[in-house]
Amino acid sequence: MPVTERLYYSDSHLIEFEARVVDVTERVSGWTAIVLNRTAFYPTGGGQPGDTGTLDGLRVVECVDDGDRGVLHVVQGTAPPREAIVRGRVDWPRRLDHMQQHTGQHILSQAFVTLFNAPTRGFRVLDASCEIDVELREPTIEKIERAVELANNVIWEDRAITIRNVTSDEAAELSLRKEPSREGELRLIEIEGFDLTPCGGTHAYRTGEVGMIAVRSWERAKGLTRIDFVAGTRALADYRKANRSAREVAALFSSGRDDIPGLTAHALEENKELHRRVRVLEEIAAEVEAEKLLTAASGGIVARVFEGRDAESLKKLAQAVIANPGTIALLGSRDKDTARLVFARSSDAAGDMSLLMREACVMLDGRGGGKPELAQGGGKLVDQLEAVISQLASKLST
Ligand SMILES: [Zn+2]
Repeated sequence: MPVTERLYYSDSHLIEFEARVVDVTERVSGWTAIVLNRTAFYPTGGGQPGDTGTLDGLRVVECVDDGDRGVLHVVQGTAPPREAIVRGRVDWPRRLDHMQQHTGQHILSQAFVTLFNAPTRGFRVLDASCEIDVELREPTIEKIERAVELANNVIWEDRAITIRNVTSDEAAELSLRKEPSREGELRLIEIEGFDLTPCGGTHAYRTGEVGMIAVRSWERAKGLTRIDFVAGTRALADYRKANRSAREVAALFSSGRDDIPGLTAHALEENKELHRRVRVLEEIAAEVEAEKLLTAASGGIVARVFEGRDAESLKKLAQAVIANPGTIALLGSRDKDTARLVFARSSDAAGDMSLLMREACVMLDGRGGGKPELAQGGGKLVDQLEAVISQLASKLST
């Protein structure tokens, strides 16, 4: 006779029960593990998270299967003494959620077997969704949608789910979806006319209780297809979230929700085209600006400091200046906390821009380099930028 009679085996909807305390052990300071002679609390296992709830008002934060020693109920606070009769209460919304995901997994896994002969190799209940690893080759949206449709039809047919206890000899005669992982007497879960598999978890009474199943995404992982799905209340929560996101995007376009894929694709294409046009216009603007700067410059040397111009814009302007013969551009920009520099000369002008840049970078506490015709750099001493540029310019003109 095992220490703990597991009431959830025979009734997955039992949430209130009375039991006797069999054992009490301190785990870590303040936390105590209680073993009862019977429990409706499901301990973590088989891909299903454990229950939480209360024992005589004490919060049960974790429930652990300790094999022959029974089910451990981890509580915080002063535990009742051995032999005390306590009243347990399982957190029903959490249990219902887990049953919907777990039973949903039985149904979805069988749907992949029925349609594609693709067994499930792994199952995990995550925080907001669930994962199954299926031996499904070349997953396509059509295959996934067919399995989801079959699974939901089984749910809406509201088929009975029953428990059968059989010996291993009896089990050998049956067609089970999954090989049993243990010897001896087996607990089989049967979904009327659809699925038969050994399992120790908690299940819905009827398939209708699962509500619905939706697949969110899938990917190939370790030679299997990893499918992310939601069932029951999680499906509704996920729908709300997805719908809210889609409506927020639709509001940006002042459009209907279902028009956004086309509108977004169009907007991205338009954005790319605008970028191309801006680049062309920037070049034209740089030519015009260079001409103005050269008119005002003496001896073909353009030495200027700008506000908030990035390196790319400075370079474009420098290149437009030195497209004219006998010219040198010493350009700087105060771009936030950085002093940016671009030095360039036309191919027929004298001077080594890379040497000049190194000199400037020493004075601005920065780094830079390049070739004799073109050099780039930057420094921290933004306040010194104006002085450094004019100093180098007057050095060049003498
Ligand atoms: Zn199960």
